[in-house]
Amino acid sequence: MCPCCGQFHRLKKCWYAFPEQAPDGFVEREHLRMRSKEALLDSKLQEQVEKLKRKKDVSQSESIPEQCVWLLNCPAENFILPYSAKLIVRVK
Ligand SMILES: [Zn+2]
Repeated sequence: MCPCCGQFHRLKKCWYAFPEQAPDGFVEREHLRMRSKEALLDSKLQEQVEKLKRKKDVSQSESIPEQCVWLLNCPAENFILPYSAKLIVRVK
């Protein structure tokens, strides 16, 4: 059960804790919104939400920059690749 709104999903899937993840057309239910607001007053839950948010930020910053993909399509010997070899391997 979600510790935030009480529905059957994981906290990281909670649209009340992470409204930015909610799909278009998602309509909040008043009583769940109220419930999650109350739940989020809990510092432990706040901590969990913050942790999940930070995790998400990290995974986003790990995505491959467009520029890097572009470089891979060019003859590599003409370039000093600004990205780490690890990143290049991951692109393949
Ligand atoms: Zn929830």
